[in-house]
Amino acid sequence: MKRRRQHSRHHLSRDAERLAWLAAGLADSGSRVEDAYWEGELAALIDKLLRAAEDEVFNQALDRLYESHTRAYDELADLVEAGAETGRFQAGGESPETGAGGAWTGLLIALPVLAWSRYAVPAKGLSGGVMQGLRAQLSAHVMAGGARLALADCLYSPDQLPRGYAETRRLADGLWQAALADRDLHVEAKKLPETAVYVSDVRYILGAVVVPAGHPLFRWNEPDGSRAEALARWREQAGPNLGAALAGCAYELLLPDAYFAAWRQADREIRPYSLKAAVAYMQALFNRPAGLMRAVVAPFYDGWLAEYRVGFTLANSDDVVHGVVWPLLGSDEEGGEMAGEIERLLKEAGVGEVLVQGQRYPLEYCDDCGAPLYPSPEGESVHAELPEDMESPPAHLH
Ligand SMILES: [Zn+2]
Repeated sequence: MKRRRQHSRHHLSRDAERLAWLAAGLADSGSRVEDAYWEGELAALIDKLLRAAEDEVFNQALDRLYESHTRAYDELADLVEAGAETGRFQAGGESPETGAGGAWTGLLIALPVLAWSRYAVPAKGLSGGVMQGLRAQLSAHVMAGGARLALADCLYSPDQLPRGYAETRRLADGLWQAALADRDLHVEAKKLPETAVYVSDVRYILGAVVVPAGHPLFRWNEPDGSRAEALARWREQAGPNLGAALAGCAYELLLPDAYFAAWRQADREIRPYSLKAAVAYMQALFNRPAGLMRAVVAPFYDGWLAEYRVGFTLANSDDVVHGVVWPLLGSDEEGGEMAGEIERLLKEAGVGEVLVQGQRYPLEYCDDCGAPLYPSPEGESVHAELPEDMESPPAHLH
């Protein structure tokens, strides 16, 4: 998740003051038992605020701590995310048949898929057949034995995911109830926001797992399971099942995980995937080998280094025909290392020539369509444009 940087000049509300105070206490705590005290107080307050949909209070407290206490900021961000994606509840109506009474733990999960297409990566509802297959594969290879499961019948693009913590928690609540009843959740895919179209992008299937309190959630929580094994089986078994939903796309499944962790992992993994996809896209579009392409890599600044952008040209031309953005995701990511990594990945994909520019570009976008501008071999920021005689592409090109 993108963490906020702006800070507010307004006074903090009482709840925001208390959140910031508790988080600072947790960050400075000297023992696990003291941690547990602070965490308990924080969890109760966060739960109350999530139910009241007070996202603004979280944002105020986070903004304050971002400026003043980095460790407390991290603790609070972690606990607010945990509050949004985790539930502990008593299931009513004790049923002798299902044993659904008693204390349960619920977790919102995400199943990320990286995809690219010459046309458009779809974001849409999923058919009953696809849902049935996913549910069976998820139960067999990813979830612990006895876990109950619900999936939302939709392939979400990143800009269709719930906005904010409270909305995330609301979706999670619906999915936990569905999971307790062992059914899926219907989502009106047509009512989700319109999504921007890129050559390569992440798609998410959202779901929930519910287990009796204290029971394992995932297959790898069991003594004979492992993450590597779960991922291999998931790709092998669930991969083909998504073919119908992702017609016309190449795609790769990532390991399903807790919602925020899966989201962050997908944000990292879409970066190298997009570079490889760009090379494959150019090869398909121009019918030329990667060796006859050139890539220009440059850092883009918005006060600080925000991202790298890569402009692609054909070997005998300076016209930038396609581009890829490589955002920096954490303060621990170092610009120089990233440039080297991007260069290595492009060469590995067979790109004939890779120019790495050291000059700082301003973080600019097209005034008309909002598309990012890309570095050209001559060191300018330019709009990626396909030659006029090419078919109309899916991305923001005009
Ligand atoms: Zn434009």
